[in-house]
Amino acid sequence: MGKTSLGLDARLQTYLTSISPPEAAILQALRQETTTQPGAQMQIAVEQGQFLTLLVQLLSAERALEIGVFTGYSSLCVALALPPQGRLVACDIDPEATQIAQRYWQAAGVADKIELRLAPALDTLASLLTAGAAESFDFAFIDADKRNYQNYYERSLALVRPGGLIAIDNVLWSGKVADPAVQDTTTQAIRDFNVRLRNDARVTVSVIPIADGLTLARKH
Ligand code: SAM
Ligand code: CA
Repeated sequence: MGKTSLGLDARLQTYLTSISPPEAAILQALRQETTTQPGAQMQIAVEQGQFLTLLVQLLSAERALEIGVFTGYSSLCVALALPPQGRLVACDIDPEATQIAQRYWQAAGVADKIELRLAPALDTLASLLTAGAAESFDFAFIDADKRNYQNYYERSLALVRPGGLIAIDNVLWSGKVADPAVQDTTTQAIRDFNVRLRNDARVTVSVIPIADGLTLARKH
């Protein structure tokens, strides 16, 4: 079954899967291949991929940004939902995982829509801004190192257009954010980020308890 949504017991998760659209064969194959990789648990859940696809379609997005590619599951969901002229800038630092991603982008016929930037994402986002890409993106998905979430969010907010959407993954962090006994720096960074976003007047926010928690922030 792969990753599941937080708080759903096995029976309800199975039911959810049974009433969800079937996972596309190419996504299924990528999920299967990723199980052999270190960090396989980092891949997004099936229902979350379907939700990202829907968001991209709802926005009629043509320019998308992804921060945290890994083996490419979420980028594939986004790229498949983009129109033929659509473009996804995909940021990661891992050449091995993204080699798998590139293979699947090719197989799915969306490689031409995706520009992989292998560099620290903060640098890539800064260079996009320097190159004049402010307010040119419709959608951004943030799913890389959690301690940089606030920085990724600020730069993404500058890069998306008014009315554009930023989706931030893992905001419920396996429930650790709600456990006062957990005080590691990553959990604390997600907690701080969540509180700041709640009070951010520049966006409309909704926290979706899908998978490991996904916050949506629409830029005013
Ligand atoms: N969205 C992916 C999926 O659907 O499978 C999962 C992404 S995984 C949770 C996080 C990724 O962020 C890893 O592939 C890691 O290499 C990348 N990453 C970590 N630090 C980074 C950084 N400073 N800049 C860019 N990517 C980074
Ligand atoms: Ca994630």
